[in-house]
Amino acid sequence: MDIAVVGSNNVDLITYIDRMPKEGETIEAPEFEMGCGGKGANQAVAASRLGATVRMVTRVGNDIFAANTVKNFDDNGIDTEWVLETTGSSGVAPIFVDRESNNSIIIVKGANGLLSPQDVADAGDAIGECKLLVLQLEIPLETVYAAIDLAVERGVPVLLNPAPADTRLDPEYVAKCTYFVPNETELSLLAGKDLETIEEITEAGKKILAESKLENIIVTLGSRGSLWLTETDEVLIDSTVVEAVDSTGAGDAFIGCFATRIVKGDSVPDALMTASRYAANSVTKRGTQYSYATAEEFENWAP
Ligand code: ATP
Repeated sequence: MDIAVVGSNNVDLITYIDRMPKEGETIEAPEFEMGCGGKGANQAVAASRLGATVRMVTRVGNDIFAANTVKNFDDNGIDTEWVLETTGSSGVAPIFVDRESNNSIIIVKGANGLLSPQDVADAGDAIGECKLLVLQLEIPLETVYAAIDLAVERGVPVLLNPAPADTRLDPEYVAKCTYFVPNETELSLLAGKDLETIEEITEAGKKILAESKLENIIVTLGSRGSLWLTETDEVLIDSTVVEAVDSTGAGDAFIGCFATRIVKGDSVPDALMTASRYAANSVTKRGTQYSYATAEEFENWAP
């Protein structure tokens, strides 16, 4: 097994409306879509579509959404042995998008909030046999920490994507990872100050590297590309120029692809170049998982 993702899954309930309703108002919506999401699931799907073998450690509720999520993992060739069921709601995200593309998103953590350190311990052998552990912050922090400790103990490198930004993230755990992949906002939070220019981002990243055993920081910068920092190197990888249609989930596409290329043996800069192209490809299509190309589609894509 190449990659273990210990993380979230949810069902996006996307309602397209002409305008946002006022408090107490009922309006009709012309269009509705349901899609699978959650940062953990998104990254797992991208990696699996690109040819990595992926195991998902996650929790679903015992509602109508759970079967849909498990089917989506199956359809994408993801190992579901550690998709655990919880009494109660699955993670769901009611999303409202108006004609100007303004959106309001409500995240119901549901079962994602119940993925526990004990679940990680129970799945220890299943995680320990993978070449890379991929984590985000849509599950309880103590579960993220338990997974990092387990991976370190078993010699499995860890990629931590600290999203969504969380002020409580303990730098001691960041220091135990091999790849730390924040966006600018998430790095700013860890650095304790606003970071805008490449110089400011580089300086803050280098300071974190100097103070820890962490080997690589990769900062994603939207259409500005991504920045790879080690104690000795700093490399800016330009983004691939595309006509952007919808950048939702670009970060997850980037990480799923980067993780795949790393377990397939690429160097970090090579993996980043490919991840940058793959994320750009996802930006040319509407939707999140829907916009993630298969290996074949990606191979045949010429931006
Ligand atoms: P999200 O939460 O929407 O997934 P993020 O903040 O985690 O986004 P970004 O930094 O926006 O992630 O994007 C990740 C990568 O995707 C970037 O480093 C870049 O390579 C690529 N990317 C994002 N937006 C664009 C764009 N408009 N054009 C080309 N590439 C893009």
